[in-house]
Amino acid sequence: TLSDRLTATFRSLRGKGRLSEADVDATIREIRRALLDADVAVPVVRQFTGAIRERALGAEVSQALNPGQQVVKIVNEELIAVLGGETRRLQFAKNPPTVVLLAGLQGAGKTTLAGKLARWLREQGHTPLLVACDLQRPNAVTQLKVVGERAGVPVFAPHPGAQGEADDTADPVPVARAGVEFAREKQHDIVIVDTAGRLGVDEVLMKQAADIRDATRPDEILFVLDAMIGQDAVTTAQAFQEGVGFTGVVLTKLDGDARGGAALSVRGVTGKPVMFASTGEKLEDFEPFHPDRMASRILDMGDILTLIEQAEKAFDAEQAEKMAAKLAADEDFTLEDFLAQMSALKNMGSMKSLLKMLPGMGEIRQQLENFDERELDRVEAIVQSMTPLERRQPRILNGSRRARIARGSGTQVSDVNQLVERFGEAQKMMRAMRRGGNIPGMPPGMA
Ligand code: GDP
Ligand code: MG
Repeated sequence: TLSDRLTATFRSLRGKGRLSEADVDATIREIRRALLDADVAVPVVRQFTGAIRERALGAEVSQALNPGQQVVKIVNEELIAVLGGETRRLQFAKNPPTVVLLAGLQGAGKTTLAGKLARWLREQGHTPLLVACDLQRPNAVTQLKVVGERAGVPVFAPHPGAQGEADDTADPVPVARAGVEFAREKQHDIVIVDTAGRLGVDEVLMKQAADIRDATRPDEILFVLDAMIGQDAVTTAQAFQEGVGFTGVVLTKLDGDARGGAALSVRGVTGKPVMFASTGEKLEDFEPFHPDRMASRILDMGDILTLIEQAEKAFDAEQAEKMAAKLAADEDFTLEDFLAQMSALKNMGSMKSLLKMLPGMGEIRQQLENFDERELDRVEAIVQSMTPLERRQPRILNGSRRARIARGSGTQVSDVNQLVERFGEAQKMMRAMRRGGNIPGMPPGMA
């Protein structure tokens, strides 16, 4: 996959102290190949790699990142840019109802999306109405009704009672018009119009969608695109852009083994943002599209990139080195280290968000999930009230020592007990990590 290829490329950069122009070019070549193999459109690839090359060669020397990490960071930023930067929200009409028209090939996931979108909007307090304008495919109206019922949203359909009957001659245009009118009367603030698709791009289909568009004057036209269709994504998107026009894109079936190329190309080629992502058959499998998350997904690095960014901002490199040296020397982890580590973590942002970023920390993460950041101050006070010997050897902390420490730090003995216990856990975790060869505070392989 695209992710695998890019990850392998970056891995080869990891150990480098400094990148030469030849290194950069070799990397760019790999990235170009990986993108082309993932069906990313050629002009998009060209623009993307050009931007990366320029930035990688001109990159400022960073204190916190090695050159390999820096390239990863640049690639990530350019990926986000090519994916559209910010998440684009739905545009609502000044005078309701807001009309959202769905267009796309048959099987792209329009009807499913209609239900997902309706459910999502309803949860936000909207009162959507679904309008069935696919009168071609047998059972299309019934399918929308089922989906509407699951979403808890009413469906406006042409012939109540004529379930499952497809009629090639039926004209969806008056249905669309009547649906919007019905919504206005019944005070539905959003109308989602489901339309028919064909298996391939087809003039009759385009004409029909364009006619529905003219009759309903949508605020948003969402082009629904199956992320699995590979290289065809670009030509299909272009055909719909010419034939119907659209304001945004929805990528479906991102739960599959999509190669990511569609997402990268469609925005680059049409200039229209991807607004939503569909990630499964269930109605909940749906979310606004976040370019930054998609970029991480493509890079397949979890949120390591975010970690890199935060590390750049706040990580005390000296502290990390000391810790690494200590681990290498097989020295034990002391309360002072514990305190230093906690302070470093505090600088890096909230503990909780940090822990989410560290891959492979399942159990520990679970344990620390309940950790309250404000406790850090208390912990600090407690450790500072200990003698150096107590910090190095907490097992000597008997009752009277604990009482003295509590008094000195303005805390309760139970707080001291809790800290000692938590430290014990952390110590265990450090030993486990040392066996695993990783350095605390840094995800595996990053140091
Ligand atoms: P339409 O012809 O554009 O209306 O497409 P449908 O909504 O009928 O979807 C076609 C098929 O794709 C159905 O079997 C859906 O269950 C399935 N489908 C739709 N969206 C997704 C998705 O995001 N992931 C997966 N795995 N399947 C999907
Ligand atoms: Mg459909």
